[in-house]
Amino acid sequence: MIVTKNQIINNARKQGRITLTEIESKQVFEAIGVNTIETRLASSQKEAIALSAQIGFPVVLKIASPDITHKSDAGGVRVGLKSKTEVGKAYREIMASARQKYPTANIEGVSVQRLARPGIEIIMGMFKDSQFGPVLMFGLGGILVEVLKDVSFRIVPLARRDAREMIEEIKGYPLLQGFRGQEPADIPYLEDLLLKISGFVEQTPEIKEIDLNPIFAYKDGAVVVDARIVLEEDASQQG
Ligand code: ADP
Ligand code: MG
Repeated sequence: MIVTKNQIINNARKQGRITLTEIESKQVFEAIGVNTIETRLASSQKEAIALSAQIGFPVVLKIASPDITHKSDAGGVRVGLKSKTEVGKAYREIMASARQKYPTANIEGVSVQRLARPGIEIIMGMFKDSQFGPVLMFGLGGILVEVLKDVSFRIVPLARRDAREMIEEIKGYPLLQGFRGQEPADIPYLEDLLLKISGFVEQTPEIKEIDLNPIFAYKDGAVVVDARIVLEEDASQQG
């Protein structure tokens, strides 16, 4: 079934939500041609096991709840599950942990995802500045971004030159070039991705915030592993 970004946004609004779930957010990005890791919703342990077998081991299981934004903090992320037994156990543990930490959360189940091949973890994001409007952010993901705040910013809309500069000006840029024989990142691909997000943000003013954290960058291409979209409170206001 092909869903459009508007259908996904309208559905969330109908349910009174402004935060799209990880699955919804990834569907939106898929719909605009951004490569995301295969991710499907399972609403029972049985379904999680069946979907894992379909996707192919190893898989990742994550808590799927519109009320839980930081999934790891809720004990809600398990990567590298190699068998039906491991998936079943992880399902029960994720559910127990989420219910304990968020007793009132509405839990849809878990998302079952293909395990992404390791790459360089980067992040891309968008927020709206009261003065400048939509601003894109680029940086290295994981611990590096949290500790070093190694990020760059540009105002939307971006020109290709802006995208290139954003990538080149972070301190960790040598990592993207393939530090000490490690796999480099596909810089032109990342530029295209920033430009695609810039265009999407321009065309979709009712989006208030985007968080792609992490994206795994490879020597050819990249894949979005976690995604979150927050809408403006009022659809007509449009930031
Ligand atoms: P959180 O809500 O805590 O940000 P994430 O979805 O970002 O949860 O998952 C936490 C971490 O688990 C990611 O930063 C990434 O390193 C790893 N991870 C998540 N999903 C996958 C996946 N499909 N394949 C490989 N690694 C993953
Ligand atoms: Mg994340």
